[in-house]
Amino acid sequence: MQRGTNLGRLGGYNQAVILDAIRRAHEGVARVELVERTGLSPQTISNVVRRLVDQGLVREDRKTVSGPGKPRTVLELEVSSRFAIGIHLDPAVMTLVALNLHGEVVARARHDMPGAAEPDGTVEAMAAAVDALIAEAGLDRGRILGVGLAAPGPINVPEGMMVSPPMLPGWDRVPLREPLERLTGLPVLLDKDVTAAVVAELWAGEREAPANFAFIYLGTGLGAGVALGGEVLRGSSGNIGEIGHFPVPDEVPVCGCGRRNCVGMSLNFGTLIRQAIDAGIFPADHDAQQLPETTAAILELVRLAEGGQAEAMAILRRGARNLAFVVAQVVNVLDVDTVIFGGPLWDALADLALPLMRDEIPQHVVAREIHRLEVVGSTQGPEVGAIGGACLILDDAFSPRASGLLLGS
Ligand SMILES: [Zn+2]
Repeated sequence: MQRGTNLGRLGGYNQAVILDAIRRAHEGVARVELVERTGLSPQTISNVVRRLVDQGLVREDRKTVSGPGKPRTVLELEVSSRFAIGIHLDPAVMTLVALNLHGEVVARARHDMPGAAEPDGTVEAMAAAVDALIAEAGLDRGRILGVGLAAPGPINVPEGMMVSPPMLPGWDRVPLREPLERLTGLPVLLDKDVTAAVVAELWAGEREAPANFAFIYLGTGLGAGVALGGEVLRGSSGNIGEIGHFPVPDEVPVCGCGRRNCVGMSLNFGTLIRQAIDAGIFPADHDAQQLPETTAAILELVRLAEGGQAEAMAILRRGARNLAFVVAQVVNVLDVDTVIFGGPLWDALADLALPLMRDEIPQHVVAREIHRLEVVGSTQGPEVGAIGGACLILDDAFSPRASGLLLGS
């Protein structure tokens, strides 16, 4: 069974199929082409298109000339007829975006979360941030499809809550979805930040998204999201991709799970800062223990390595090798042909990490003689979680599920 939804699709299945075909045709699509692409009858297309035009979702008033023959009238998405809002809830910062129907960011905001150690007041702060974003961008509230919330896992999807996320010790079973719906008056969807990032790649990527990929998410935590056959995978409870306790060959400080070889612990900010202190890079009394100071310390380590500091480079290389080893195991389990790195920290790490990853990961991939493995960085930037949150809404409203039904017609 497909996952449940609380938004409801915009219209029926055929409408979703037609809207999806129009959405994907950025240059516009003529009715006759829609017949070819969807396998639906001209009559069905005519009926649905009239409804879409009436709803303001689609326009049909532009002629294009391509090749010989008379100009053709094309259908185009009315990209600003609806909007989706995404929120990424991170231990250090809350990021918001509003997307139009092409998945383009039309408004954005960032709010530090100094009180994130305590969940009290956070939902109210989210609702206020949504209101402020709508007001500042001058968006018509009636055109907003909903709010997609991307949060660190683990999450309880039916209850709409985070459940003891490791980086937010004060947050045990905090309901988010229902109170946010109540405060904003908008439908809210909740998903893991890594899964939201996958949806962002599928919906809002600058390039055509690959069908089979793993998204390795680097933020204050580490996680993986997965798409297979062009569909986002969520697992039985929406908690797919918990890779933090995968073992690495290296010995690392003891993890919360009791073992000494967890990849998450090897990349933990505290571990890296400790190594930098031991290597004499940071002073012995370096006291960065809390976000956002720990993030700043890691970025400083990256800056030193890029400036040619050998010890800093050695620490980051060691972490990168550990991560590459685990990413290769993810590739081996899923048989994906693309790895996309992204998340709030990725842009700062990319110049250093991408060549290392391209070199290291394939060495541990079993099928490396059989298919190429692309290792790329996300083009979504540090806002990928928030963009993904908004894409959850677009996906829910527009995606024709059971896409296989179209084949063979
Ligand atoms: Zn562990």
